[in-house]
Amino acid sequence: MPTIETLHALLKHELKDLFSAETQIVDALPQMIDMTNNNELKESLKDHLEVTKKQRDRLNEIQDLLGEEKMGSANQGFFANLFKSNEGEEHCKAMEGLIKEGKSLLNEDMSFEVMDAAIIAAAQKIEHYEISSYGTARAYALQLQLKDIAGLLEITLREEYDANDSLTALALSKVNLKADEFANLPVGSNKNSIRKTPPKRSAKAVKQVKKAAPKNISSKKTGSKTKNSNTKRSNQTKSSKKSKARK
Ligand code: FE
Ligand code: ZN
Ligand code: FE
Ligand code: FE
Repeated sequence: MPTIETLHALLKHELKDLFSAETQIVDALPQMIDMTNNNELKESLKDHLEVTKKQRDRLNEIQDLLGEEKMGSANQGFFANLFKSNEGEEHCKAMEGLIKEGKSLLNEDMSFEVMDAAIIAAAQKIEHYEISSYGTARAYALQLQLKDIAGLLEITLREEYDANDSLTALALSKVNLKADEFANLPVGSNKNSIRKTPPKRSAKAVKQVKKAAPKNISSKKTGSKTKNSNTKRSNQTKSSKKSKARK
């Protein structure tokens, strides 16, 4: 593990960490997309998957500008691939944790409507981590007068803000509402009946839901209102003001 003695070295470390984070997101998003019920949410996540792949390429572009070897497997030979993961030299443990936590939440037994709300929650935690890391990296680049690099990091930072904002919009306009409607059906009614046509789910997603042991549904619903209002105050706050301020 090389020593980090300068801000420049710290920037390099942050970029490698981000490369690992983006790689892990590229690997994890397809599964989340599979489990999504709401079409708008599905499209938004699919878009962000494509954006994420470009962000990873952009990190390699930055690495080029720094005169460093490219990160990750895309440009490495067979033997390099054999010994290195496709994440490069760093492994972002925070992203590993965020993804693990998200996956274990999504493996709970929940209705499709509540599942969509949980997917947004997991995705927004990921976006917030990225916003924080890209914001930091960009600040370092500006301090170090690396204007081109700061500019590239700014592009990604904006994309992460946009992804977070569209998730907030979807949560507040539709997904949280549907999840709450589901919870408010009278006890004992057939909760599946509120759905006119059964949503399509991939075999993988169905298997994952089945894997989770059946839980007492009524006890789980009790806390959902408090949880929703908490979410509105913290994660799902409109960040448009903040986005303007950061310019
Ligand atoms: Fe990203
Ligand atoms: Zn490290
Ligand atoms: Fe990290
Ligand atoms: Fe992102």
